Amino acid sequence: MASDFKVLRRDMVRRLQTKGIDEPAVLEAMLKVKRHDFVDEALQAQAYGDNALPIGYGQTISRPLSVAKMTAALQVQPGLRILEIGTGSGYQAAVLAAMGAEVYTVERIKPLYFLALDRLVRLRYFQVKVKLSDGTLGWPEEGPFERILVTAGGPDIPVPLLRQLAEDGILIIPIGGKKREQSLTRIRRNTGKWYKQDLGSATFVDLIGTHGWTHKKLEASPDLQSVIRSKLP
Ligand code: SAH
Repeated sequence: MASDFKVLRRDMVRRLQTKGIDEPAVLEAMLKVKRHDFVDEALQAQAYGDNALPIGYGQTISRPLSVAKMTAALQVQPGLRILEIGTGSGYQAAVLAAMGAEVYTVERIKPLYFLALDRLVRLRYFQVKVKLSDGTLGWPEEGPFERILVTAGGPDIPVPLLRQLAEDGILIIPIGGKKREQSLTRIRRNTGKWYKQDLGSATFVDLIGTHGWTHKKLEASPDLQSVIRSKLP
């Protein structure tokens, strides 16, 4: 069984390469992390396919290609402090940890939080800290972060996340005016300013919270949103 999964995992990584993922560190981490450990037993046989899979509570583990693209866009290096919003299954957090990052991940759905916490400890991903909270507020006590990754799509960039992004930091977030239809957006912070880059279309589950969907839409403080430029100087 374990060896079957290993073969399937290698095939998954080869497919990612054919789809343009060529960062060795990303491919290595996805070869290492056992995605089948992050889904329900009944779905394990599908764990290395190209799809998102249900994890309960209307949420999904993102498809491998999305995880690979986001991780590549994040330019992960060992030792970086990374904040992830949307722990879900814990798989993305484990991939970042496998690359040597110190991961802080926030989930708002209690049972998913407990499942992921238990799973990450059992699988010995001790460099991942998990918090039950509204991630659109970030994790102020632990910030600033050199990287921030939001794995759910919101209407706008939560201002607390901009504030908690370290100088020279990178923030990746799917943003869209409509639900489940977003542009993957990369923000870089450079000399106290924020620069925005569109990385193409994306489909993620909803980011729900104070600075996400459902609650009153964010009234971005103009001092922050207006200083986001489209290009680095
Ligand atoms: N990264 C996950 C995929 C997550 S799906 C993985 O690897 O499995 C998106 C997750 O974001 C869901 O679990 C959802 O509950 C969570 N989410 C949505 N809005 C959130 C918020 N404001 N704060 C924290 N988590 C949130």
